[in-house]
Amino acid sequence: MRRVKIAVVGLGKIARDQHIPTLNSGDAFELIAVASPHGKLDGVPSFSDIEAMLRATPDVEAVALCTTPQVRYDIARFALQLGRHVLLEKPPGVTVSEVLALADVAKERRVTLFAGWHSRHARAVEAARVWLGWRKIFNVAITWKEDVRVWHPAQPWIWKAGGLGVFDPGINALSVLTGIIPGTFAMKSAELSYPSNCETPIAARLLLTGPRGAMTQVELDFLQTGPQTWDIDVETDAGRLSLSMGGNVMTVDNKPVATAPSTEYANLYAHFAELIRRGRADVDIAPLQLVADAFLCGRRVNVEPFVE
Ligand code: NAP
Repeated sequence: MRRVKIAVVGLGKIARDQHIPTLNSGDAFELIAVASPHGKLDGVPSFSDIEAMLRATPDVEAVALCTTPQVRYDIARFALQLGRHVLLEKPPGVTVSEVLALADVAKERRVTLFAGWHSRHARAVEAARVWLGWRKIFNVAITWKEDVRVWHPAQPWIWKAGGLGVFDPGINALSVLTGIIPGTFAMKSAELSYPSNCETPIAARLLLTGPRGAMTQVELDFLQTGPQTWDIDVETDAGRLSLSMGGNVMTVDNKPVATAPSTEYANLYAHFAELIRRGRADVDIAPLQLVADAFLCGRRVNVEPFVE
């Protein structure tokens, strides 16, 4: 199989933790360049921006955009217009309309655009989707609580408009929710807690109605110390399905369900490779739409300043 020549744009935490190791260990892609204002990667031609990179390395066929969300649209648009396939880290844009506009450009240029929701590729998520099928769902509870100081040290962009605040991890929960339960969730109410020195929320409580009426409560918190919680519990007519560890562990009525070993980012890139091979796009805006709706209907609560 011919390997797709790929470049990574935005050499930050997720690029170094996941994208680069995954690309280096898989056989679908060949990492031939990187672009980042300050970062460089040993042994790989490194450029300060995508323009310089594509000028010097025109055989790049695909780019993975791992930048902060606020700069992603312009870079994605530039790459798509130059006929490159694009993988967008989550969130795929700062606004829903940005993502829809990018999908139009990809269609026009006949290249692949993949809005990558990495949590949907966690080990137990597909098994949960299959198990739920069209079972009757009574209630869904999502608890996504983590310590921002541990997981996002020195990332001031999270607290700036477009950085999503607690929705940066919270959107992963919403991507799993909308990935395992078919149909459309309706955002009914939201309470968003804003530190007085931040432009984005540090905690949120959401109430949604599921596709066939099931109430869905979501609790997001960025100040969780001690054990971290990334749980989704679904009460159904066949028992209680629980996904924990961010979609990696599944139980039904507290009994573990075995799932085949796999890793999120290997699965994500396998899907990207398949989309490119088949000339398809995958741009699901549902999780971002829910976040946008939470901002639309959310009641603001002021809380104490956040000091890292
Ligand atoms: P980060 O560590 O702050 O890295 C972001 C990088 O973007 C920076 O290193 C910066 O590069 C680069 N950048 C900024 N402007 C750029 C531009 N114009 N062109 C090219 N690169 C640019 O953030 P992160 O944690 O990796 O998160 C990045 C994205 O991945 C976010 O959307 C986040 O939601 C998502 N994500 C993060 C995680 C995680 O665990 N951290 C997990 C999954 C997904 P320089 O350093 O060179 O200036």
